[in-house]
Amino acid sequence: MDSSIPAVADLLAEARFRFGQEFGGDAPQVAVCAPGRVNLIGEHTDYNQGFVLPMALPLVTVVVGKQMPGLDVAVVTATADADEPRRVDFVLPPPGAPLSPGAPRWANYVKGVIQHYRGPPVQGFRAVVVSSVPLGGGLSSSASLEVAFYTFLQQLHPDDGDLVSKAVACQQAEHSHAGVPCGIMDQFVSVLGRAGHALLIDCRSLEFSAVPLSDPALVVLVTDSNVKHSLTGSEYPARRRQCQEAASALGRDSLRGASVEELQEARSRMDDVTFRRARHVVEEIRRTLDGVEALQRRDYRRFGQLMVQSHESLRDLYQVSCSELDQLVSAAMEVEGVYGSRMTGGGFGGCTVTLLEASAVQRTMLHLQERYSGTPTFYVTTASEGARALTFDL
Ligand code: ADP
Ligand code: MG
Repeated sequence: MDSSIPAVADLLAEARFRFGQEFGGDAPQVAVCAPGRVNLIGEHTDYNQGFVLPMALPLVTVVVGKQMPGLDVAVVTATADADEPRRVDFVLPPPGAPLSPGAPRWANYVKGVIQHYRGPPVQGFRAVVVSSVPLGGGLSSSASLEVAFYTFLQQLHPDDGDLVSKAVACQQAEHSHAGVPCGIMDQFVSVLGRAGHALLIDCRSLEFSAVPLSDPALVVLVTDSNVKHSLTGSEYPARRRQCQEAASALGRDSLRGASVEELQEARSRMDDVTFRRARHVVEEIRRTLDGVEALQRRDYRRFGQLMVQSHESLRDLYQVSCSELDQLVSAAMEVEGVYGSRMTGGGFGGCTVTLLEASAVQRTMLHLQERYSGTPTFYVTTASEGARALTFDL
């Protein structure tokens, strides 16, 4: 079964080749990559100032390019949404003036990063983007594109190197130029992910710690349902609003720090739906910390139970799952050697994440393919490194 992930070296070779093709035989001078991510546990907790536990994936966005005289920018991507041109040309505004979003949509991630770049004023450049992160599949191709570009600009005009500020700048780029009010998780782990580790992020303080996840007998299987229900757009702001309402009813700024008991006491001051949303968030924050403890003890069975509880809570209380994700999770849990499985990302489609024994991976993929009504795509992954500069002799 095909679950192969292209090597970074192959993506780099492709990007270099396309650069020459596009720019009359010219050669790029710098190369970088930034990973997509999968969240192991802690879903819909980031914008509630809670904890999340993602890991960086071996799926990456590669950017190669070079600086050019003047203020002209040309960027080419090998993969864009079907209705969009793959090349964009624009002129940088004078320092301090805004760089407005526009068409194509994908270029707004690049423009946003230029706008929020924390180093010296950006000069003209040429760049080519090649990515193995599926676009819009819930593995954060958007953050990997932002972080890859930021890392690219760092090669041309170094900033102070502060990595947390870099992640925040990329998040701001997504807010201001793509119009997506995302939390900090995706950009944070794309910048700070560490090979062989998941990353516990405190989304309130932005403190973080790396949690070892490098047992060779263990694999993280990411399964793309290849469905995306169009509800996503309206449901996300609605969830954010309900969480805010619940926090207000508790007299708090956010649901972080609230307990289930406190929530029960305040139940009469909120409607039932708001209560259930808040209960998911409060319990999920707790589960994330319990999950970290379990991983530290190498208690994968316990971690797996927490993953399944997380899924059930997202399905029943937060109501962001869908039948395809539910099918994939229950099918995975039927296989011997699977510790746990859950939907991951915003929901209403996208991917599931499954923790399992490496020896069970083939039979799990077969079983999922058999039981799933759609066509899944599999990525057999291990926790990978965050954004980095690459050399061409890779
Ligand atoms: P996700 O981040 O889960 O993949 P999003 O909807 O947040 O989904 O981001 C997907 C969008 O990001 C795409 O529609 C496209 O505009 C942009 N994008 C991401 N990676 C690339 C790329 N390599 N080339 C061009 N556009 C990209
Ligand atoms: Mg995204």
